Amino acid sequence: MKYIEEVIEKVKNENPGEPEFLQAVKEVLESLEPIIAMNEEKYRSQKLLEKLVVPNNIVKFDVKWMDDNGVEQTNKGYRVQFNNAVGVYKGGLRLHPSVNLSILKFLAFEQCFKNALTGCPMGGGKGGSDFDPKGKSEAEVKRFCIAFMDKLYPHIGVGVDVPAGDIGVGGREIGFMAEEYKKQTGTLGGVLTGKPLSMGGSLCRTEATGYGLVYFAEEMLKKRHDSFEGKTVVVSGSGNVAIYAIEKCEQLGAKVVGCCDSSGWIFDKDGIDVALLKEIKEVKRERLSSYAAKRPSAEYHEGKGVYTIKCDIYMPCATQNELDLEGAKILVKNGCFAVCEGANMPTTREATEYLLANKVLFTPGKASNAGGVSCSYLEMVQNANNESWPFEKVDMKLKEIMVNIFHNVDEAAKEVGQEDNYVVGANIAGFKIIYDAMSKKGLL
Ligand code: NDP
Repeated sequence: MKYIEEVIEKVKNENPGEPEFLQAVKEVLESLEPIIAMNEEKYRSQKLLEKLVVPNNIVKFDVKWMDDNGVEQTNKGYRVQFNNAVGVYKGGLRLHPSVNLSILKFLAFEQCFKNALTGCPMGGGKGGSDFDPKGKSEAEVKRFCIAFMDKLYPHIGVGVDVPAGDIGVGGREIGFMAEEYKKQTGTLGGVLTGKPLSMGGSLCRTEATGYGLVYFAEEMLKKRHDSFEGKTVVVSGSGNVAIYAIEKCEQLGAKVVGCCDSSGWIFDKDGIDVALLKEIKEVKRERLSSYAAKRPSAEYHEGKGVYTIKCDIYMPCATQNELDLEGAKILVKNGCFAVCEGANMPTTREATEYLLANKVLFTPGKASNAGGVSCSYLEMVQNANNESWPFEKVDMKLKEIMVNIFHNVDEAAKEVGQEDNYVVGANIAGFKIIYDAMSKKGLL
């Protein structure tokens, strides 16, 4: 049996009931085949792949918090610290009822490669809880965040583990958690990123993942002497990543005609009104159906299906495995020529293979959504130096990082004779950095 197959088999046996984690491990390891094959025996004797797929630490705890009726509720909380060879554990906190160890391990594993790709000294981690912020009052969210941080704070810190936001965790939640961290430890520094500006947050962090995604895609189009100008785009999701991807696409001359939430999707033939979308999602925290109610050019449809809207470029920015084979076939049939992932692993393996086989340009989230964590790193640098940079400076650095990631990924794919396969390129480019760090630190 080949070394890669052996390790995948081992992961399958040792992590039963963790399909998302296994999916991520398989995708990464299988795409490393061209370079593992060159030195298979050496890597086998180093137990390299076994070390890559096992998290360093997993912290699990109960989070007890009081709801508005005075009833105590309990949720599960986690932090997965996967690999810190390249730098401090870094990765977001997710609050969503679907959160479990399989999902957090897949996210933390992917995060190691993503963070390596940024060129910044960050290892990979991820955490969160199955707490559902939807429908909760602000006071309930606050009490939950405080209780969550009461359990998490001993495990994180500057130079150790620096969490950020993810699904269900924006500036408001990070603000509550940061304040509690400060109360418990007497200091805050740069221990959480995505903080409100008044607590040392960075300008452009809110925009960073969505903008970064579009900068990455823009560079890919540039390689083909093309641009966003005049393109029709559909973005799934309507949260942090989606909103700022839509905004940047429109700034670059594209028309974004659709987006969704977990209840339904909208088609807006005149192009999405970002100011209205922000008002609904960021200020009023309403469902997307109220967008169509306020905008005559838009239709609202219940359920799944935003990918059925005809487009040139599709950007899945909602959640894992949202785009399946059926969706990929519809995109191809409708002439979509690029799928750029803003979410983490939003495309199933079958759908990814179908898109690649049909010559659709495909950018994996671990490369194209790295703008968020890159900007988090810029926030850490500002905190460490007691500085606050203007928006334009952060945005310019973000763009430089994304352009650089594109070229590293592009080059890595070319080197193994798979030009334009950005899945292979991203995994190999990230792997090389992690391998180098692990070797130099005597971890192999
Ligand atoms: P948000 O919570 O801000 O938004 C998530 C959006 O996706 C919401 O509109 C949500 O709708 C929608 N959604 C969730 N599940 C589904 C579903 N099953 N079908 C359709 N829509 C769904 O999260 P973010 O925008 O921050 O994150 C989105 C993705 O990007 C995640 O995969 C995250 O890990 C990834 N990411 C985020 C980064 C960041 O900086 N925020 C950085 C890198 C990656 P509803 O409101 O109805 O739940």
